[in-house]
Amino acid sequence: SGFIGGSISGLAEIFTRIQRALGASEHLLEILDEPEEKIQLLPPAARRPHFNGEIRFQHVGFQYPSRKDLPVLRDVSFHAEPGWQVALVGPSGAGKSTIVNLLLRFYDPAVGHIYIDGQDTREYDLSLLRSQMAVVPQDVFLFGGTIRENIAYGDTTASEEAIVEAARQANAWEFIRQFPEGLDTIVGERGIQLSGGQRQRIAIARAVLRNPRILILDEATSALDSESEKLVQEALDKLMEGRTSIVIAHRLSTVRRADMILVLDKGGVVESGTHEELMRKSEGLYRGLSELQFSH
Ligand code: ATP
Repeated sequence: SGFIGGSISGLAEIFTRIQRALGASEHLLEILDEPEEKIQLLPPAARRPHFNGEIRFQHVGFQYPSRKDLPVLRDVSFHAEPGWQVALVGPSGAGKSTIVNLLLRFYDPAVGHIYIDGQDTREYDLSLLRSQMAVVPQDVFLFGGTIRENIAYGDTTASEEAIVEAARQANAWEFIRQFPEGLDTIVGERGIQLSGGQRQRIAIARAVLRNPRILILDEATSALDSESEKLVQEALDKLMEGRTSIVIAHRLSTVRRADMILVLDKGGVVESGTHEELMRKSEGLYRGLSELQFSH
């Protein structure tokens, strides 16, 4: 694969599975945590401290436990203000997915720190931390079940109205309502097959319902047909509004408007800045390769 190419679809599926499991276990933990005395329990949203979504990587170094000999990230530092769109670009194997893995705390850095809202991610309750993030993967994995279940994703408290509203915001409601069974339509192997664009919009609805402060997006490399593409992009734009987003970027339109592009190579940040700033560097890796590699 090329400079921006490559796929983390396997990883994306793992994210999806873990997120789903997490949704379920979060709920379980809430039940286990319930004290015996009848005190007033606030709904989860009200109990959560307010996150702003400020992200800081400070001198982060990392290697995977299974490959201790292979440094995957070295001295990665960057800062994202709340609401920023950060685009990660770089050749296959540069460490883009690994940055996302660390942010989601599937692993902790070997060296350095990751702060969210000024607090080391190691100091957060893990389920609280992850409740603030949603991942929209490149290849969306839907589990066998109804569309409703695929949007609610383990959140048994989600109301019908909230699910419909999430589907609307994700540009998914129009196609869902056309199925005779609506939200109760079974998808997956034993149900109806949805198109790539429809699956993505279900994943976006999932993220809308979750209402995270931080959004992790792995852009599709393969283009959808242009009508579907437009609906997906519109829904993503709405979803990113007001949230900090980390995008593994494959599209020129994404990097052009990113508040910051991090160009990674061999586990290090080799350039960072906006598209205009990076294009002004005549010798830059970004400039040289972006012309060749970005689609649309
Ligand atoms: P791509 O564009 O191909 O998805 P990437 O920039 O996302 O690449 P990473 O997936 O972060 O790159 O991989 C960085 C390095 O870490 C690569 O050398 C890869 O082989 C290695 N790596 C990734 N995941 C693991 C893992 N689970 N165990 C061991 N090594 C891994």
